[in-house]
Amino acid sequence: MMEHDFFTFARALAQLANQGQTRRDFLCEASQMLLALTGCDEIELRGKDGRLLFRWEFRLQPGLHRHFEILTGVRNAAGRLLPCSNDDSAFEQLCCDVLSGSISAPASFLTEHGSFWTGDTSVPVKVILRANASHPAQMAHFGKEYQSLALIPFALSTEDVGLLHLKSRQPLFFTLEQIVRYEEIAQTLGMAMATRRTQAALHERNKELKCLYGIMQVAMRPEGALEEILQGIVRLLPPAMQHPECAAARIIFDKNSYLTRGFQESTPRLAADIVVGGLQRGSIAVTYWEEKDALESDTFLEEEQSLLDAVASQIALIIARQRAEREKAKLQEQLRHADRLATIGQLAAGIAHELNEPLANILGFAQLARKAPELPRQTEQDIEKIVASSLHAREIIKKLLTFARQVPPSKSEVDLNQLVTHGLYFLEARFAKQGVTLELSLTPNLPKITADATQLQQVLVNLAVNSLHAMPEGGCLTIKTLADEGHVTLVVADTGIGMSEEVKQQLFLPFFTTKDVGQGTGLGLPVVHGIVTSHGGTIHVNSELGHGARFTIKLPIGELPENEKSTNDEYF
Ligand code: ADP
Repeated sequence: MMEHDFFTFARALAQLANQGQTRRDFLCEASQMLLALTGCDEIELRGKDGRLLFRWEFRLQPGLHRHFEILTGVRNAAGRLLPCSNDDSAFEQLCCDVLSGSISAPASFLTEHGSFWTGDTSVPVKVILRANASHPAQMAHFGKEYQSLALIPFALSTEDVGLLHLKSRQPLFFTLEQIVRYEEIAQTLGMAMATRRTQAALHERNKELKCLYGIMQVAMRPEGALEEILQGIVRLLPPAMQHPECAAARIIFDKNSYLTRGFQESTPRLAADIVVGGLQRGSIAVTYWEEKDALESDTFLEEEQSLLDAVASQIALIIARQRAEREKAKLQEQLRHADRLATIGQLAAGIAHELNEPLANILGFAQLARKAPELPRQTEQDIEKIVASSLHAREIIKKLLTFARQVPPSKSEVDLNQLVTHGLYFLEARFAKQGVTLELSLTPNLPKITADATQLQQVLVNLAVNSLHAMPEGGCLTIKTLADEGHVTLVVADTGIGMSEEVKQQLFLPFFTTKDVGQGTGLGLPVVHGIVTSHGGTIHVNSELGHGARFTIKLPIGELPENEKSTNDEYF
């Protein structure tokens, strides 16, 4: 072999390694190059590739033969894991000793660097096998097929070793000088194998990073619905795998599945759980629809499992973040709504105060004027109208002040169940007339609350009357009372026309009504809102157009301090 051949070989091998090919392609090409360079009939290579210990055979004549085998490995006295199988044959132990650098054989079979070689395999060699101290000396037999062979150890990394096994059918095929040259080649081969692995790993890491980057981009889309995000993520997974051409992925989340083409339940698969807030809400799985042999690569890499775990925690984070954002938006909307209502309340209260006095004067003087003797009939009727209109205006002002919480509740102990049964008494005739059935579901022994009974009565009547309006063709009105921690709940639900989102948004604004003039003033629900909030309670509405409405009112049970108790006749 010429110096020139050696350099050409080394350069070609380095190029091959840098391509980051699969294990199979690299071993095939490197073996062909070795056969061409050495003129041998067969190449055997042993080594460690990642976690895998293997033995690889390759020859072209007679007919292409390649054989890949995973080895269990044998630990030598120094604790190093060697690419050998655990059988007792002297040849296998010879390989172990060559790999360990502890071989002892007649000098004519050894090189200075610990390679073993022979030009006549019909002669067994007496070797001292240090790897197995119980059989210190054995005869190694080599079989009949090859006349010459060489076992050349090389380093794959600081930890790992490999073995180049050259075989020729010709006797006395090698010279010592050649073997020494091949020792250099074997070192180059070791470096190339390590480089190939690094390159392939780099290539994989690159794909994984691309996948994670893609996930970030999908998750960052502010308007992204969860379904779209998961659909986007599942599509990013197959390209991140070692064999994207036959990989398929599936994400299951809350029983919904998001799949890519070709996903099969039964094939070998990699999986990770999606855990949100300590609860398993779903899983991710990746499969190959073609079986991959170990020669090509490990079916799944350790890093791919880490990638899947990382993707699962990303999904969990996205979900947690989305929920937090939704809650934040809802809270902000509630705050905005409360703020708007408070501002309108202040305005309404201001106007109501200002109108209260002149109105009281109008009413007072009209009532005085009515008492004057011998009034003409027409004047008397006109004064009656002034009194009636003033009383109507006074009612509106009262409602506005209630909405603005300017009518403090006059509190006493109230049994909500009793209030419901008494309060609906007057409406029962109307229910019957309109074909509305009433369903009461009152929780027995409901704790008493400290509240203004008259105001709560007003709440109940306003809600019930609205429900009646919403069920012109009849229906069912359900009234429930419930008790939970610290609260009693009053639910008023109907099977009426329901409300659009737009109506729901404006429900508590004073004078908002969808009813005809004379039918509604738009003050019923603002009054309900004012009363409930002045009792420290909350009110929630669930409704869809065409599907009825449900108002849920929660009132605190707790006793209010003495000084907060007041009467409601401050203004009227
Ligand atoms: P009004 O009844 O005088 O219109 P409210 O403040 O009581 O005033 O109600 C405002 C609006 O809310 C109503 O006009 C109606 O559109 C809607 N609404 C209230 N309760 C219901 C209900 N139970 N079903 C459907 N719509 C309702």
